[in-house]
Amino acid sequence: MPAKVYYDRDASLAPLRGKTVAIIGYGSQGHAQAQNLRDSGVKVIVAEMPGTPNHALAIEHGFKPLSAAEAAAKAQVIQLLLPDELQKRVYESEIAPHMTKGKALVFSHGFNIHFGRIKAPADCDVYMVAPKGPGHLVRRTYVEGSGTPALIAVEQNPTRRAKQLALAHAAGIGAGRAGILETTFKEETETDLFGEQVVLCGGLHALIQAGYETLVEAGYQPEIAYFECCHELKLLIDLIYENGISQARHSISDTAEYGDFTRGPRIINAATKAEMKKILEEIQVGQFAKEFILENELGRPTFQKLRERGANHPIEEVGKRLRGMMSWLSGKKPAKRPADKGKPAAKRKAAAKRRSAKRTAEKKR
Ligand code: NDP
Ligand code: MG
Repeated sequence: MPAKVYYDRDASLAPLRGKTVAIIGYGSQGHAQAQNLRDSGVKVIVAEMPGTPNHALAIEHGFKPLSAAEAAAKAQVIQLLLPDELQKRVYESEIAPHMTKGKALVFSHGFNIHFGRIKAPADCDVYMVAPKGPGHLVRRTYVEGSGTPALIAVEQNPTRRAKQLALAHAAGIGAGRAGILETTFKEETETDLFGEQVVLCGGLHALIQAGYETLVEAGYQPEIAYFECCHELKLLIDLIYENGISQARHSISDTAEYGDFTRGPRIINAATKAEMKKILEEIQVGQFAKEFILENELGRPTFQKLRERGANHPIEEVGKRLRGMMSWLSGKKPAKRPADKGKPAAKRKAAAKRRSAKRTAEKKR
């Protein structure tokens, strides 16, 4: 059965009326969700640590940041938008004492609830509003009048109003303009971790680097390797994002499309899929969560080393130099639009075909 999608017409903001929402942490998601909720007419207060850049940013945006404990004491809806690995500590020391009967504890990712690290009192609601996009996009789309889709989930519902509250909260950040889907903390946590590890971040970054290395090791120019294995990705991802994989295939050349069908499955093959399954199992049994928490407790020795190694990969230097040469990436005046740009992909391809047919006809003449 296809998932039910909720829109603004299904999600009244009324359940949030008269309530104060505390956004704990003014980072990527915090700055976006706090401002969107406020612009939607919800009463919002913010908690940030004094002396940090995000504390200053919150003030610049018109908030008066409090400590997490002060905000939790004042609000009825308390949303944890701290980094996942810090949430347990801040919750236990500053927020738990203020979780009185009927309040709601809100997350944008299920990690700490699903893996049992945070336990809210049984007489409090626990729900999730998880935008499916980075915070800066959540804010930008809202300001532009559209929105970023979001997932909602209810874990504890003693008030029997948690789902209506979650829908109102999601609509308040603008997700009702794009679509709100219901899930569970388990499904969101496991699929979110899987997606970022296997496809969106882990798989993609490794694929780009391995492709780049293969070309450079074979003696090709690093600049060419960068364009082929990294820069062009954005253009192709846009096609997939707009119309799906089949339509994207319609826009690439037949040469590319034939190579795609016959070579792609050699890169992502049965062994790769078996590894994906293993990674999913590590997520499901909590092995990844345990490893990540331990790594943080030890002061991130491996994490830091891997970050350094990533930042020192040769593709970074080449990419930096090339991106510096592309005026449209640095916010300067864009290059003149080619005549074809803006036409739908199918029309673009048809026009290209007509031009190519004309050239062939001319050559034959
Ligand atoms: P960020 O790291 O961007 O922001 C966290 C903020 O919390 C920072 O401003 C940090 O300050 C601040 N902070 C740290 N400790 C405290 C404290 N004790 N009191 C008050 N503020 C504090 O986190 P994200 O926005 O990326 O993530 C927040 C949640 O949203 C996570 O659960 C994440 O999984 C989820 N999420 C994130 C998405 C994203 O795109 N980033 C997408 C969907 C969900 P400082 O910077 O000074 O350390
Ligand atoms: Mg994620």
